[in-house]
Amino acid sequence: MKEILEKQRHFFNSNQTKSISFRIEQLQKLKTLLISNQNLLDKAIYADFKKSPFETFTNEFGLVYLDIDEACKKLKSWSKRKRVGTNWVNFPAKSYIIPEPLGVSLIIGAWNYPYQLSFAPAIAAIAAGNTVILKPSELPSNTSKLMAELINTHFDAAFFHVVEGGIDETTALLEQRFDKIFFTGSPTVGRVVYQAAAKHLTPVTLELGGKSPAIFTEGANLKMGIKRLIWAKFLNAGQTCIAPDYILLPKSLKDEFLRLAKAEIEQAKYSVENGNYVQIINSRNVERLSRLIDPEKIYSGGKVDETTRFIEPTLMHNVSFDDAIMQEEIFGPILPVLTYDSLNEAILEVKKREKPLSCYIFTNDSQLKNKLLNELSFGGGAVNEAIMHIANSRLPFGGVGNSGTGSYHGEAGFKTFSHYKSILEKGNWFETKLKYSPYSEGKLNWIKRLMGIR
Ligand code: NAD
Repeated sequence: MKEILEKQRHFFNSNQTKSISFRIEQLQKLKTLLISNQNLLDKAIYADFKKSPFETFTNEFGLVYLDIDEACKKLKSWSKRKRVGTNWVNFPAKSYIIPEPLGVSLIIGAWNYPYQLSFAPAIAAIAAGNTVILKPSELPSNTSKLMAELINTHFDAAFFHVVEGGIDETTALLEQRFDKIFFTGSPTVGRVVYQAAAKHLTPVTLELGGKSPAIFTEGANLKMGIKRLIWAKFLNAGQTCIAPDYILLPKSLKDEFLRLAKAEIEQAKYSVENGNYVQIINSRNVERLSRLIDPEKIYSGGKVDETTRFIEPTLMHNVSFDDAIMQEEIFGPILPVLTYDSLNEAILEVKKREKPLSCYIFTNDSQLKNKLLNELSFGGGAVNEAIMHIANSRLPFGGVGNSGTGSYHGEAGFKTFSHYKSILEKGNWFETKLKYSPYSEGKLNWIKRLMGIR
């Protein structure tokens, strides 16, 4: 590891990554490599948790390719130095900001979208001119192995290298000094990463998780809302960081909500065999999730098959904030439905908890929409939609507080892996004596007068 890091530092210092055409070349090379190995990539992720080629394209590689295309198109303008105004104190001068790459970056991925969560940050890092050491999650072992094989045989380790492994390997990596660490995973491990980074004062981006609420108000378009919400919840069998974790809705809407949600689940025909659904990643998570299902509170679904790692899309009703299911991020295909008497009470309950990664607001009332947008703090989200904000690269993607720090996608990703160097460039044709000693009352009065202070 140390050797690779040394090589990357040496390569970075050679300034080759500073060239925009080099960055574009590498991004195009990555795209070609992935497209030409699509079959192998599809097979590996299917072997890990039976994700179909349809979903592998739509929610992994589709986003990766859009990211590459956008970065290649906009890189020149993102990396331009930007002129800003200069204040009178500095007359005569011009001022500008130069984006520069941070250096050697470490990217640590999560398992639930193994390709997208590894390559999307890597694209941002490369676009900004960094070298990359990528450590994908070890849980989907086939995708991790294939990413290492492909990247390590086609890219120079001094520029882009994949290190496989779990806690031990990540701990060893974190002991090294990086110029940037980008981590996707749980808030618990996020703390470990943050602490390790602090030792070297390395800047970090933490893309974490949490319990993301979906809040319905009176008068919401239930039919459309439920269609979008059910898709978002059960995509990837609920193993999505921005999946709606739980529902909050007025008591009066409860019965109709449950009836329509159940019907929507039925018509979506979720099954691993037909490619509309995936397995739970491992037995430990099957066990954890099955413990969260209270048999007394199942409205529909609830079947668990440990041997095939299958959990049926499950709706739970009569749930309260004290139930086990409300004590941790669910990260699986279980949707608890909670009701409220007043919206203010619902807002208070959300505020009492950690700031979520996402929040989804289903409403037709613009006053209530603005109230919720104004009063709740969360990473990002959507109105009358769920999850799809991730597919607009103009929206920086990230959490706040316990759900993360920093953001990426599109230009936000470029910024995340850049330092913005501020420069004041002074002209030599004029210099006032005001700031120089010997000081005098007259000079001070002039300074005050120029500052508008009497
Ligand atoms: P995790 O925190 O268990 O693991 C993430 C990474 O950290 C893996 O690469 C793993 O090898 C490594 N790791 C695990 N334990 C470690 C330790 N003690 N020291 C050093 N490294 C360690 O998370 P996960 O189970 O892979 O993913 C689930 C979590 O990630 C959920 O909370 C989810 O919400 C969150 N997530 C967030 C996003 C996002 O974009 N914000 C995306 C996907 C997942």
